[in-house]
Amino acid sequence: MKKIKILPEALIGKIAAGEVVERPASVIKELIENSIDADSHSISVYVKEYGIAEIKVIDDGEGISSEDVELSFQRHATSKIEKESDLFRIQTLGFRGEALYSIAQISKTRITTQHRDEPLCTELYLIAGEIVEKKPAVTKGTSIQINDLFFNTPVRKKFLKAPATEKAHIIETVQNYAIAFPQIAFYLNIDGQEILNIPKAASLQERISQILGHDFIENSEFRSISKAGYKIELFWGKEQLQRRSRMRQLIFVNKRPVKDSIVTSSLYKAFQVRDMHPQFAIFIYLPPEKVDFNVHPAKKEIRFREPNLISELIFKISALSEKTEPSFVAESERIWDKSTNSSNFEQSPLFKGEFFLTKEEPVQFLNLGDAIIAIKQEDGILFLDYHAAHERINFEKLLKGMSDNIYRLVFPEIINLNPKDYAIIKDNLSILRELGIEAEDFGNNSVIVRGIPQFLKNADIVSIIESIASEIKEEIIKPNFADIKGKIAATIACHSSLRANNPINSFEIKKLLIELGNTQDPDHCPHGRPLKRFVPFCEIKRWFMR
Ligand code: ADP
Ligand code: MG
Repeated sequence: MKKIKILPEALIGKIAAGEVVERPASVIKELIENSIDADSHSISVYVKEYGIAEIKVIDDGEGISSEDVELSFQRHATSKIEKESDLFRIQTLGFRGEALYSIAQISKTRITTQHRDEPLCTELYLIAGEIVEKKPAVTKGTSIQINDLFFNTPVRKKFLKAPATEKAHIIETVQNYAIAFPQIAFYLNIDGQEILNIPKAASLQERISQILGHDFIENSEFRSISKAGYKIELFWGKEQLQRRSRMRQLIFVNKRPVKDSIVTSSLYKAFQVRDMHPQFAIFIYLPPEKVDFNVHPAKKEIRFREPNLISELIFKISALSEKTEPSFVAESERIWDKSTNSSNFEQSPLFKGEFFLTKEEPVQFLNLGDAIIAIKQEDGILFLDYHAAHERINFEKLLKGMSDNIYRLVFPEIINLNPKDYAIIKDNLSILRELGIEAEDFGNNSVIVRGIPQFLKNADIVSIIESIASEIKEEIIKPNFADIKGKIAATIACHSSLRANNPINSFEIKKLLIELGNTQDPDHCPHGRPLKRFVPFCEIKRWFMR
């Protein structure tokens, strides 16, 4: 054994930094936490080269007083706790006083900050934690710029994953804090490209829908439970949101995004999850002394003081029922729907004499269930499978190359696939592009979808991509379809089409019939099944020998 020595200060700094800053996204996490603790209303993050070249976080929070700026870069310098007992009632995201110190040790850091109550603004420039410049400046709030992250710890840099993966971590980090703090506006720009631009939201629901999409809110049940100072709010994704791989399983404890096996496993058990993985967002609020956030240097893991109570509440919340059964009374009242919402209706001649619709006349129809409706016509009844009709319309839109009508996603969607599906999709991105789906390889078994045909705006992109993969897989195993593009288009059309549980109204029926009339084959769905059948009154009369 060699002689024991105290490590040099610079090396201690690098070791400490290694615990806090694992990757560029960790820097962003710490800086965002500081901005939130400083009561900011708006937080902007600018990243160059997946955070290695530059990370800049700008906030409009309370700022640091000129007296304290230098101090804030010292190890264990914090304004958030004072004594040991404070450790057990933490109300802020930060408390260890290590982030600025650690980040500065392994980068070139510039901070410009002005405290709310002071006329002066300070700018400080540090290289590897050493202050090399200090001067007055002009700003409001705080702006921190980190350049050349890991420049003096090349080994750490080597351990980073592919740029796409690091970018995905960055996006996820910003999204997580945005979900936790709906009242704050968030902005993220990577290499000059706006990735997130999330205005302040009025509610948690609104924020979740800004980030996870309207589809998530629409297809999840919301439940809430309170007991003994604990409160749990849960958005539990229904079956249609379940996936073969884990995604969107978000846990927040006192607004802090965390990973926690007690919460996850209790949810899986309570909801009797089997083959597929559920999507959920769970928000746990509890008295600060009932949870220890000080068990992981990056505060990723936590320890509940009463884990059994957490499990118990999760089981209770799973037993609460969210009423979703249809009400039969309302249904029967609506038998022949006479809704007259036809103001936007464009008149056009259609259906080759089968029937004719006019602007004023509402469609009278009977919903027979299973997406089949009976529409009353002048000379008979038209039975229509509106899911299949919609499929036919969307199918032809896709094949006509909807690429001119691309809807750019406000939040590009990163889709995690299993390795097999990923390999298939990665090799066939050009087919997707021909169909108007703008997707790119995002590394680490994921693709990023930036644009989709306009009419798929509200469709579930994840299951579309998954089914495309399985279509292509089928094709590889038994290649009897000449037109793989057509087959994929049929699958996408199916996913994006109205379902039996989407109620349809008079106006939508009219529009559907017009669009159907303009398709190549208005009688069959893309899979070749009949989609409508007309029974003339004269035939009906014959049934009664009239
Ligand atoms: P901690 O957040 O654990 O206190 P940090 O090293 O992250 O430690 O920050 C040190 C201190 O610097 C904080 O306690 C806070 O007083 C101040 N600070 C850091 N970032 C900001 C900011 N964006 N706005 C205002 N004050 C800040
Ligand atoms: Mg902090």
